[in-house]
Amino acid sequence: MQDHRSYTRREFLDRTTSCAAHMGVMAAASPLWLRGLWTRQERFPVVASEPWGRLEEISEGIWGLVSNPLQDRATLCNGGIVAGRAGVVVIESFASDDGARWMAQQAMRLAGRPPTHVILTHHHGDHTGGLRGAAESVDVIILATGLTRDTVLERGRNAPADVLEGVELIGAGGSTEIDLGDRSLLVVSRRGHTDSDLSIEISDPSVVFCGDLVWNGMFPNFVDAVPDQLSRNVRVLRRREPTTYVPGHGPLADDAAVGAYIDLLDHVEAAARRAIERGITAEQAGEEYSLPDGMEDWVLFSPQYFARAIGRWTSVLDG
Ligand SMILES: [Zn+2]
Repeated sequence: MQDHRSYTRREFLDRTTSCAAHMGVMAAASPLWLRGLWTRQERFPVVASEPWGRLEEISEGIWGLVSNPLQDRATLCNGGIVAGRAGVVVIESFASDDGARWMAQQAMRLAGRPPTHVILTHHHGDHTGGLRGAAESVDVIILATGLTRDTVLERGRNAPADVLEGVELIGAGGSTEIDLGDRSLLVVSRRGHTDSDLSIEISDPSVVFCGDLVWNGMFPNFVDAVPDQLSRNVRVLRRREPTTYVPGHGPLADDAAVGAYIDLLDHVEAAARRAIERGITAEQAGEEYSLPDGMEDWVLFSPQYFARAIGRWTSVLDG
């Protein structure tokens, strides 16, 4: 066992930004304050709590999952459940079949019926790894863009081709309405975290499931990002009225948290512009990079994330 108290925040951040260890190792260390970071930031009543995450009741019939990847990776990404008279939508199929099954059970328990729809926000494995588990619900319709489906088929480890074949496609560009009788959802085609992202949006109450376009408390993964599009799309999905944002990773966010995240995206862009001016590599700029004031608590899945983010920006800026 680690002596959790032997880590200070500063030491932990130093370790996570400098060592080559991955999230698995971070999870093994998982100092208490860091686990506390997730529980401290509960915004709504918690209706289910497991090692891999918690479900918060955002409003009647709307639940957000905040995964805790530091303890257990069954779900790994965030997502949610939206229930109406005519159906129950689950957002994401999560990292594992067990994670997807658990969410289907929660839909049953909370909404009284299994999922009628599962929406994939983008192709990454932590959002699509549990596709087979998600497809086990009777008559469930799985929705994704064509590019998301094709990329999962190409890149996904053990991608279930039979399940992917049955996916109903959401048109890229524009938005698609899902009518649940007493409530409807807008599935909006966006871009920036990957070449094809979806946000799932509700107007009353105002709730946006952002997929990985928005991260909160964790530095975003730019591996497939189109950074200028990301900045633009996050600004566009931000609303004027008070809104709950379900980020792809980290605690549920309000407008202030999304504002801080936009500032972070701008901060990374500025670091990339400076790197170009000084003629240094993204790797060098990433090593020098530090998070803006007030974000010292943010964690990273991998210490390479700074250089990766700056590198994606420099390739856009260099044309
Ligand atoms: Zn992602």
